[in-house]
Amino acid sequence: MNKNEIYVEMDEAKTIAIHKAKAKSSFKTKMNFFLYRLAKVGKSEIDAKAFSKFNLEEESELIKEYTTVYVQEETNYVISNFTVEEIYSKLSKLKKQIIVRELERDYVSKFESVFPLKAFTKNIKKEACCYCEITTSEITELIDLRKINKKASRGFNLEVERFDANLEYTVDNCDMACYWCNNAKTDEFTKKEFMKIGKAFRKVWDSRK
Ligand SMILES: [Zn+2]
Repeated sequence: MNKNEIYVEMDEAKTIAIHKAKAKSSFKTKMNFFLYRLAKVGKSEIDAKAFSKFNLEEESELIKEYTTVYVQEETNYVISNFTVEEIYSKLSKLKKQIIVRELERDYVSKFESVFPLKAFTKNIKKEACCYCEITTSEITELIDLRKINKKASRGFNLEVERFDANLEYTVDNCDMACYWCNNAKTDEFTKKEFMKIGKAFRKVWDSRK
């Protein structure tokens, strides 16, 4: 095996590890909303089939309620029949059920059908941020010019970006983003909103050259 082949193998192993980590995050997102739906109506039985059928793309109302009401209101605020505090407690208990671990293993093993490794690898190989369009070579160029202020920034790459953090990691919901865009976007801004901010970042990068 020559040096290049070793690098390719290292890259592949790294990509597979990231793919697996994203599978776990993706599961966590889906399971959290699924359990929230059960908790707010007082159900304690987790049905594997129902989880498999649960589609976040069709749950915009539920996601909206979770993000703008449940996590923001006071603990005594009532949603449906229970207070936020009661829902939180029910949700915590649901998360501890053994079946959740089993469903996670199952989800991770089948993640290929959610985000195929081939498409995932293609995405990871992209060299420009989807928002500000800074490229990996531009980052290196700015580092060489001593124009990057982030500590220990040499050698870090673009990160897998989920446009909507409340949805799973899928081909359509993912791209690559730079460290700065990723940090600034958080879960607050939508893709459309952040595109405008990315354009402003672009101007700043250009002004540093
Ligand atoms: Zn960026």
